[in-house]
Amino acid sequence: MIILTLNAGSSSLKFNVINIATEESLADGMAERIGLSEGILRWTIQGEKGRLDLDMKDHRQALTAILEKLNETVLKNEGVMAVGHRATHGGPNFGDPVRIDEKILREIEELAFYAPLHNPANAMGIRTAMELYPDVPHVAVFDTAFHHTMPDYAYTYGLPYELSQRLGLRRYGFHGTSHRYVAERTAHLLGKPLESLKIITCHLGNGSSITAVDGGKSVDTSMGLTPLEGLIMGTRSGSLDPGIILTLMEKESMGYKELNALLNKQSGLLGLSGVSSDCREVEEVVDTNDRARLTMEVLGYGVLKYIGAYAAAMDGVDVVTFTAGIGENSPTLRSWIGNRMKGLFGVTVDESVNQPRSKKERIISTPGSRVTLAVVPTNEELMMARYTAKFV
Ligand code: ADP
Repeated sequence: MIILTLNAGSSSLKFNVINIATEESLADGMAERIGLSEGILRWTIQGEKGRLDLDMKDHRQALTAILEKLNETVLKNEGVMAVGHRATHGGPNFGDPVRIDEKILREIEELAFYAPLHNPANAMGIRTAMELYPDVPHVAVFDTAFHHTMPDYAYTYGLPYELSQRLGLRRYGFHGTSHRYVAERTAHLLGKPLESLKIITCHLGNGSSITAVDGGKSVDTSMGLTPLEGLIMGTRSGSLDPGIILTLMEKESMGYKELNALLNKQSGLLGLSGVSSDCREVEEVVDTNDRARLTMEVLGYGVLKYIGAYAAAMDGVDVVTFTAGIGENSPTLRSWIGNRMKGLFGVTVDESVNQPRSKKERIISTPGSRVTLAVVPTNEELMMARYTAKFV
């Protein structure tokens, strides 16, 4: 049974074709610069990479071009049974994946209040795919869903209660599909039931978040109402003293637009280092560039503080797992963090496992460590495909 997963951004469309029986990805890729000049379609089909320069005026044209490519190859003999869609914000209502109909689609569009950049793009991708595949189930998998199990005291902000209630201002959290997948794989790696473990999952990529997973349930997470809260990220500031916003409004006459650009696009690794939003490029110059050194330490220290906080929140922690672009690929950052977890957490990093580049799930602390450190490559697409397959 073949499942197609789609992740639509405002000018991009990522796809994955998964054979759910073997859980193998047959093809993946993305259309970039949709609606702009110099569009590109990239793919890997059965291990072979390809690309096509193609201007795509909208998501429909992009998806049509993707399907043309797939229909000649991996979908030649077997059709798509269902389509799984990444949906960024599920608001207070969606705690599980849902089969999409017109009403659900409108709800996703209305949730643009919470995720103005993402939800409208997600909805556009869904609409297009439903037109092209009218006869198969379409399933929305929400980034926020896994975090629905947070207790009220973890998701409540210290604002006037009625105001928060009226506007839905609370912590929702994101990257839920990744945190859940990584927690499940961590339990598997340790050979223990998920229900018995206290896990802290560190999803460190362009966007980063950390989740406390107690017995398989998310009980706290670092992103909030929006993906801006928490750690410093590629271009996002992460958590700030809210007074800074007031100061900037007062002293720099900044309004919504300027603040939005500043906090979402010009801050984080990019704004702090002045080098790049790409962690690799910042890490490359840490020895010669003091702002790059500072940036990486601010990130590492941020992760360390969440680990401490979530260990307290769960009254213990068995394992801390690193995932996503930075978490999977930066042994230096993992060492920096692990080496500061010696006393309280009894961690010793096994550098013979931590340092070598590897795409494998693995434990990177020594067997004698009281708390285990692990690396688990995330696979949001597979998780989406699994959820989607349930609706067939
Ligand atoms: P997204 O959130 O867009 O899915 P990813 O999870 O792919 O992002 O993470 C992208 C980040 O991973 C970038 O900051 C990139 O520099 C970082 N990264 C990828 N490879 C390495 C590496 N070898 N060393 C350090 N960082 C890396």
